[in-house]
Amino acid sequence: MAKKKSGKQPIIGICALCKKESTLEESHIVPKFVFRYLNAHSFTGRIRTVAEPNRPLQDGKKLHLLCSDCEDLFNKDETLFSNKVFHPFKKNGFDGPVIYNGDWLNRFITSVNWRVLHQDLQKITTEQDNDKPLTPEILNTLSNAENVMRSYLLKERLNLDVLENHIILFNEEIMRELFSHPHAIIQGSAFGTPVIMNKDAMYVISNLVGILVITIIKKHPEEIWLNSFVSNESGEIPQSQHFDSPIVTELRKFEDFRQAYIEGISKNQLEKLQEKIRKDPDGFKNSETYKRIMMDRKLK
Ligand SMILES: [Zn+2]
Repeated sequence: MAKKKSGKQPIIGICALCKKESTLEESHIVPKFVFRYLNAHSFTGRIRTVAEPNRPLQDGKKLHLLCSDCEDLFNKDETLFSNKVFHPFKKNGFDGPVIYNGDWLNRFITSVNWRVLHQDLQKITTEQDNDKPLTPEILNTLSNAENVMRSYLLKERLNLDVLENHIILFNEEIMRELFSHPHAIIQGSAFGTPVIMNKDAMYVISNLVGILVITIIKKHPEEIWLNSFVSNESGEIPQSQHFDSPIVTELRKFEDFRQAYIEGISKNQLEKLQEKIRKDPDGFKNSETYKRIMMDRKLK
């Protein structure tokens, strides 16, 4: 292989979205404006990795993923989201509902979570030597979802079929309901990960520094989403939101990692713990954390 000369050499490959051979741009998995914000608001000027999800995507990770046409396709919706939702929310929050015209919010959420899911599926297919690989049924559901999202983003189809996008704008009330250290975990981090509880509860979630965007691939029959659904047309997100879903387990797990980190557990140990949960999600389901959630649910 030829050595890299100074300056960037174009990377030729197959675009993950349109599948055409092209020069690939360096794409961010979680959008660039999110990391710019984190960088600018961090005391150290460095991004804090709060906790690493199941199969972690590093903060600010960049990959040669998309051709310039597809990158442009995403940029439009990203700019709208950044100007109309992200920055106003981070600055003063919203006094009333968030109103959106057209399908850009739905497209934006799809584009973020599609990138996360696509990357994860790539990893799964190359690292299938896990002790507990995902079942063919789950893999099939995930890859179908990825296809639906991809063709929706390419405008080959007009909707997301049975997939649902939701958005949660974390205010004090929702955070206090869910976490004991919400500011560190939710407002101080950015990450994206699939959450696969079992064949009946599957999601892709991305936390954009306090704005959680969720794509529900398989909806658990008991979960509750109030005022968070994102329409494929114009719509509004009311201020008062509530959700109760298996993803709370995952979010609390991040919080536990954060706590463990603070208490001085080494990174190595933390990784082992993560590995344990990843390999044994059922065991985690039988854990106290999960039971607490189920108990809370019965109390309501
Ligand atoms: Zn492309």
